[in-house]
Amino acid sequence: MMTRRQRIIKLLEERDYSPSELALALDMRGKGIKKVILEDLKAISKTLKHEGKVLLIKPAECRKCGFVFKPEIKLPSKCPRCHSSWIEEPRFKIEIR
Ligand SMILES: [Zn+2]
Repeated sequence: MMTRRQRIIKLLEERDYSPSELALALDMRGKGIKKVILEDLKAISKTLKHEGKVLLIKPAECRKCGFVFKPEIKLPSKCPRCHSSWIEEPRFKIEIR
């Protein structure tokens, strides 16, 4: 039996996922689920360093004006440039270094 974090690692070693896609793949529903996943990703990025792997982040992007956020493990709610809340989620992937 794999833990949720182990399952996330396995998924991200295959391809990139956004937090929403991870929730779907793990069959997790409900409010606050994305926050749980972000916390998992933060913990995972720390443990990976000891295994010669790295968590790659494709930053969030404003779908209205194209503003690119910093590559961080968080979900921005609003664009600082145009104030749109139409934000493309960041995507995460694990690579072996
Ligand atoms: Zn924008």
